[in-house]
Amino acid sequence: MKQVYNFNAGPAALPRQVLKKAKEEFLDFQDTGISIMEHSHRGKHYEEVHEEAKNLLKELLSIPDQYEVLFLQGGASLQFAMIPMNFMKPGEQSGYILTGSWSEKALKEADKFGDVKDIVSGKASNYASIPDLPSFSPEEYSYVHLTSNNTIYGTQWASFDGIDHPFLIADMSSDILSRRIPIDKFGLIYAGAQKNLGPAGVTVVIFRKDAAERANEGLPAILSYETHIKNRSLYNTPPTFSIYLLKLVLEWAKNLGGLEELEKRNQEKAQLIYEAIDQSSGFYSGHAARDSRSLMNITFTLKNEELTKQFLKEAHEQGFYGLAGHRSIGGCRASAYNAVPLEACQALRDFMENFQKKHDK
Ligand SMILES: *Cc1c(COP(=O)(O)O)cnc(C)c1O
Repeated sequence: MKQVYNFNAGPAALPRQVLKKAKEEFLDFQDTGISIMEHSHRGKHYEEVHEEAKNLLKELLSIPDQYEVLFLQGGASLQFAMIPMNFMKPGEQSGYILTGSWSEKALKEADKFGDVKDIVSGKASNYASIPDLPSFSPEEYSYVHLTSNNTIYGTQWASFDGIDHPFLIADMSSDILSRRIPIDKFGLIYAGAQKNLGPAGVTVVIFRKDAAERANEGLPAILSYETHIKNRSLYNTPPTFSIYLLKLVLEWAKNLGGLEELEKRNQEKAQLIYEAIDQSSGFYSGHAARDSRSLMNITFTLKNEELTKQFLKEAHEQGFYGLAGHRSIGGCRASAYNAVPLEACQALRDFMENFQKKHDK
């Protein structure tokens, strides 16, 4: 098998051990003679997987008891719509903090359901940093929404110290389980699994139970958080194979040493690539302001389009996958999610140095 370094932005790298384990028990799950995919979602074998995935997530993220963990479908994109459907009320306003394309999309959906305000936007500076927040009082907004890591621009909230609201909502699709976070600051956290948690198909929602009391009534059952809470995410058939893989990823994370260890590794990994950028005397230039740099998505460009193209071409030939920037901003992006090993980042740093030696004239 050829050596590949997978820097895809999402769906992204999965731990090799997880894939091997899934392969081993693919045809015969725990001596049942059939695959986990073929088991009923109401049967004992799947139920165990379902509960275990939930418990592992609670343990790894230190989720307090007053929170529910839900496994939904529809990606983060369905959450963009479900949040306002459930929580926007006539005469109230919700607040959105705009730090990139995904927060823009979230606001756009909310705008269809009521009065929405962009509390602050980093658009004018091309989303190169997390903007300073203007002060606001909690009563101004029924909820406040933010995006913790901006997958496309490569910026990330370094901490959540400066922001307080009784119902704070965060899209953590691209940095969940990558570092320690104060869960109890948030009323609702959501994340599509396909970046840091597992394969596409399942979306994790972490939900403070009292939030359910605020929810609007009369929604279609499938779009109401209450339905999923009441039914333990088994209202309808869940994406059983995705949740099974999520469980394997969480076991892997636990065996590695949990969140603290993952955070340490992620810092080390990102630093390697940022150093290659910073020590290149401008051959590579990073998109994100230093204090807003993402540990997950490292965005940079070369001096001109032609050189960027050459970089991406040579990188691909040498087994570096997924380094092209998002189509909306171009340039390069290395996504160093949890499952990307340190060696991949070392190899990328070496490649960047060698490429510079060859082309910096
Ligand atoms: C990938 C991503 C999304 C979109 O997720 P889908 O699962 O495709 O709906 C939303 N927000 C952020 C921050 C993302 O990284």
